[in-house]
Amino acid sequence: MKKLLCTLALSGLTFINSVTAQEFTLKQIEQVSKIRTNALNSDLAYDILSSLTTEVGPRLPGTTNDALAVQWAQDKFKELGYDKVWIEPATFPSWRRYSESGTIIAPSQQPLHLTALGGSVSTPEEGITAEVIQFETLDELIAAPENAAKGKIVFINYKMNRHIDGNGYGPATRARRTGAIEAAKKGAVAFIMRSVSTSHHRFAHTGASQYKDGVKPIVKVAIPNPDADQISRLTTLNKTIKINIKVQTKDLGEGKSFNVIGQINGTQNPEQYVLIGGHLDSWDLGTGALDDGAGVALTMAAAKFIADVKRPKRSVRVVLFAAEELGLWGAKAYAKAHATNKHNIVAAAESDFGADFIYGFQSSVEASSLPIVRAIAKQLLPLNIAYIGANRSSSGPDLIPLRNLGGLPGFSLHTDGTDYFDYHHTADDTLDKVDPKKIQQNAAAYAVFAFMAADAKKTIKGK
Ligand SMILES: [Zn+2]
Repeated sequence: MKKLLCTLALSGLTFINSVTAQEFTLKQIEQVSKIRTNALNSDLAYDILSSLTTEVGPRLPGTTNDALAVQWAQDKFKELGYDKVWIEPATFPSWRRYSESGTIIAPSQQPLHLTALGGSVSTPEEGITAEVIQFETLDELIAAPENAAKGKIVFINYKMNRHIDGNGYGPATRARRTGAIEAAKKGAVAFIMRSVSTSHHRFAHTGASQYKDGVKPIVKVAIPNPDADQISRLTTLNKTIKINIKVQTKDLGEGKSFNVIGQINGTQNPEQYVLIGGHLDSWDLGTGALDDGAGVALTMAAAKFIADVKRPKRSVRVVLFAAEELGLWGAKAYAKAHATNKHNIVAAAESDFGADFIYGFQSSVEASSLPIVRAIAKQLLPLNIAYIGANRSSSGPDLIPLRNLGGLPGFSLHTDGTDYFDYHHTADDTLDKVDPKKIQQNAAAYAVFAFMAADAKKTIKGK
């Protein structure tokens, strides 16, 4: 019986090896193993992240720091020995935050922590003081009668939930995106929302938001969970709540920045490439370590780990997208510029979810390419990354415009996002939140994935 089990196990192993062997030679698998081991023993990704967040710091699109980051990225790519380094322009609506503060005036005076949402207009110097009207959700506000908030400050109290895959984020951002528009339609003079946040600390979370032509732009801010809890409790006392909001910002019209691109050239089909990367810009409050300095650093390191062992058949291209936070502007420019050559992209994955451990691998490719995907998945197993299914990949925000062109072979390396929204878009997104061990695993995963996709015998096809 023991012998039979052993034979079965062996034949199972032979089967898996033969599947892998069809796609990759033993020599290639040895190279993958070397790349993985080197990455797991290197501080390169963390060092790059430390350099970016220390020497440049916050990188709001269009600022001097943003320009510094563009130069920093080109210099870093060259220092790492990339074969080709270049920039491509992107434009976006430029906006600056100068000052912001808040106070609860009644029923008792208390400081209110807040931050302006991206693109918010200013208040007068003395601020706006008005009574608060609370809604639990954006839909409750939308359903409210005409003029329900006339002369008042609308407060949306919606709380996001914590989840490993960040599934609370999407529903919570609805209020952030259009809350100020809906509030203004009901006659409000200002908009406050509970931050899109899982944290119990008093850091407010900023983020992209919109105005609408024909609807008055009103000041829009987010407050941390403890402050939202406080207002919510005050509401239950049935007393009038008054708040003062002071925000000074400026709309600077069209801004310009650049996608920064570094490439390790392929040896057989250099025009075909695996695209990995992150976005170079960040919000202005923290130093953008998790969002998305980590994605920048670990993908820059990953391609270097590959080049150190073997240049693959196809190129590995690291794209550091511009102005993601203000609305995927660099990503849109990249998709437009490369639309006619979109089929040169043989695999794509973006890291933009912090740098906790990666736990899952997903693909969105033609069925004929699944054997290659399974072979890659097998080489991610030693990093504790499970293959969680074919053809359900979301592959990162900056890849959305490329995906919309159709046929993109998209991949997701899912990062554990349980704690991500404790820090996301706050002053607390700083280097100390990144674990040097975890970012090693991330860089190793991207290196394994990008090398195998670039060096496979057959070209991966999108669907
Ligand atoms: Zn991001």
